[in-house]
Amino acid sequence: MPDTPKILIVDDTPANLLVMESLLEGVGAQLLTATSGQQALSLMLEHEFSLVLLDVQMPDMDGFETATLLRGRKQTRHLPIIFVTAIGKDDGQIARGYEAGAVDYLFKPVNPHILRSKVEIFLELDRQRRLLARKSAELDHKVKELLALKKQLEAANRQLNELSLTDALTGLANRRCFQEALQTEWRRAMRCGQPLTLVMADIDFFKQFNDIYGHVAGDECLVKVAAVARSPLMRPADLAARYGGEEFVLLLPNTDLEGGVCQAEEIRLAVEKLAIVHEGSTIGPHLTMSFGVASVVPRRELDPMDLVCVADKALYTAKERGRNQVDVQGRGAFGSGA
Ligand SMILES: [Mg+2]
Repeated sequence: MPDTPKILIVDDTPANLLVMESLLEGVGAQLLTATSGQQALSLMLEHEFSLVLLDVQMPDMDGFETATLLRGRKQTRHLPIIFVTAIGKDDGQIARGYEAGAVDYLFKPVNPHILRSKVEIFLELDRQRRLLARKSAELDHKVKELLALKKQLEAANRQLNELSLTDALTGLANRRCFQEALQTEWRRAMRCGQPLTLVMADIDFFKQFNDIYGHVAGDECLVKVAAVARSPLMRPADLAARYGGEEFVLLLPNTDLEGGVCQAEEIRLAVEKLAIVHEGSTIGPHLTMSFGVASVVPRRELDPMDLVCVADKALYTAKERGRNQVDVQGRGAFGSGA
């Protein structure tokens, strides 16, 4: 059995070895013997022992020296050693043995019952130590597996986020969702001959806000603004989306320019009312937002992105004219018939 523990018995008197072997018969361990410290050390290189029974009195290298060498080696540093000694119970000798790394003592002539029970205790300790080491290795393996799984999950989550239609921070529709809705509503409006309106909104001096208050505060600000970007005037088909960093859009089917301006104005006031302190704003003490509104009855020769461009131009005008305001598309923005 590969799991059978091994005990090394070291004694320079072969007869003692024979006695010990017979006393330990049936203890559930493979018994190996050595007649010198040197032989014991070389056996240590070939075998992994659970316990050493080490004779103290040996010529050349005695038990203490052998134990000291075992303690010095990484592989045998924690190997339990029971000294077997014929010396009387002299405290000085015993202390020296413990310093050399003994965990216990047996005195010759060896009492068979004491020998067996001590050996059994050490074998049980060793069995538990090995079990713990195996469990710990298994646990390490599981932790590695879990970490790998976590990585996979994170990657899958990132992919899901990219595919998702919601902006993770604000909970509004994301740009992808907006682009899809724009295509759909554009076609629907064209079929029905109804106006489609787009509001583009942008937080004023947001870069400065992040610079002054940090990105965490910046994110909190985006969440607050997003919450009021759902204007109370909104109908089920209307869509509020986060377009980019601090840019938001409202897509308003079957709404004319005036209706879009109304909604934009509503949100502009709501943002003002949030009274978010903004020391980096050059137009007032609080955070504000600028809006550009564009509206068109879609026609074949136009592209949905034209609506985005025109609303964006209007937003640019709002910024140019001093921010915290709603501006609208210029005359003839969509060519004749707009
Ligand atoms: Mg001896």
